[in-house]
Amino acid sequence: MKKIQFILIALLCATFIANAAQKPTVYVLATGGTIAGTGATQVAAGYTAGAITVDQLLSAVPEIKDIANIKGEQIVNIGSQDMNDEVWLKLAKRVNQLLSQGDVDAIVITHGTDTQEETAYFLNLTVKSDKPVILVGSMRPSTAISADGPRNIYNAVACAVDKSSIGKGVMVVMDDRILGADDISKTNTLSVSTFQNPNFGELGIMYNGKPNYSRESMKRHTTKSEFDVTNLDKLPQVEIILSYSNATDLFVNAAVNAGAKGIVTAGVGNGNMTTVMQNALANAVKKGVAVVRSSRITTGPTAQWDEIDDDALGFSASWFVNPYRSRVLLMLALTKTTDYKEIQRMFTEY
Ligand code: ASP
Repeated sequence: MKKIQFILIALLCATFIANAAQKPTVYVLATGGTIAGTGATQVAAGYTAGAITVDQLLSAVPEIKDIANIKGEQIVNIGSQDMNDEVWLKLAKRVNQLLSQGDVDAIVITHGTDTQEETAYFLNLTVKSDKPVILVGSMRPSTAISADGPRNIYNAVACAVDKSSIGKGVMVVMDDRILGADDISKTNTLSVSTFQNPNFGELGIMYNGKPNYSRESMKRHTTKSEFDVTNLDKLPQVEIILSYSNATDLFVNAAVNAGAKGIVTAGVGNGNMTTVMQNALANAVKKGVAVVRSSRITTGPTAQWDEIDDDALGFSASWFVNPYRSRVLLMLALTKTTDYKEIQRMFTEY
């Protein structure tokens, strides 16, 4: 090889290494879901969630390598209807471990949409870093015409590497929108715009590969959260019980007898319930079970001091935390306290 050729190759290698070093490093932690799902044909409705691996997922979006050094890791490969406390703890610990490293800039988590709001909120309360953590899913399997997964993954990585995403708490990026974990809800069984922040509106949009924020969450999260799962290998059992006309005490008693440490109600209206259910819950409190009133209504707070005297019954009210996220917060609250007033404080702060 001539000297000039050698110098040119050396220069090219040096440029390549310098570019890679300049790009932020993003870990993509894969957990399964429709985004990793495959169907028998491109058009049929049926498919299996969690069928392809993180490497296959990432190979559908080579463009992300232009904006970040990507490292893929398979945490689990499940439909998120099977998400559980064990995986949550594993995820939270791995995210915290990775983000404590100086050479990791952000995390993207691929996840099924069914329970994505619960995982996002759990991580929002247990990640101990300001670095961006973005959850992403899709409503169409990877084999469908116009699969939404690749675009959503690109946007999630693009959002994660942008400096304006630092300190915003855990977010969900789907359908060109950026959603905060504190108010996230899946609102449609099929639409690609399924995720909404129904009380306060989305945090921003993704446009031209960049986040454009218009609001921030005022709730405590990540580095300002008091919850720490580092040394936990399980979480307290908390059940959700739905209210409806003529509801009895059946499920409350079953939960108490099964050893539940907490019960969240998905009440009617402003967290109301039949008198018989209310009495059963008051008895549950006397047996040491924490009760949080939430609502089956999509928007608005489940507020204290309305029709139910929470202080007299020892209940807490969930305010803007819906029943699914209330269960997450109550599980974490019970790792610290059983006092309903302390739990009430947490429901106003997170
Ligand atoms: N059942 C799927 C899941 O949650 C649905 C989806 O990802 O959209 O894993």
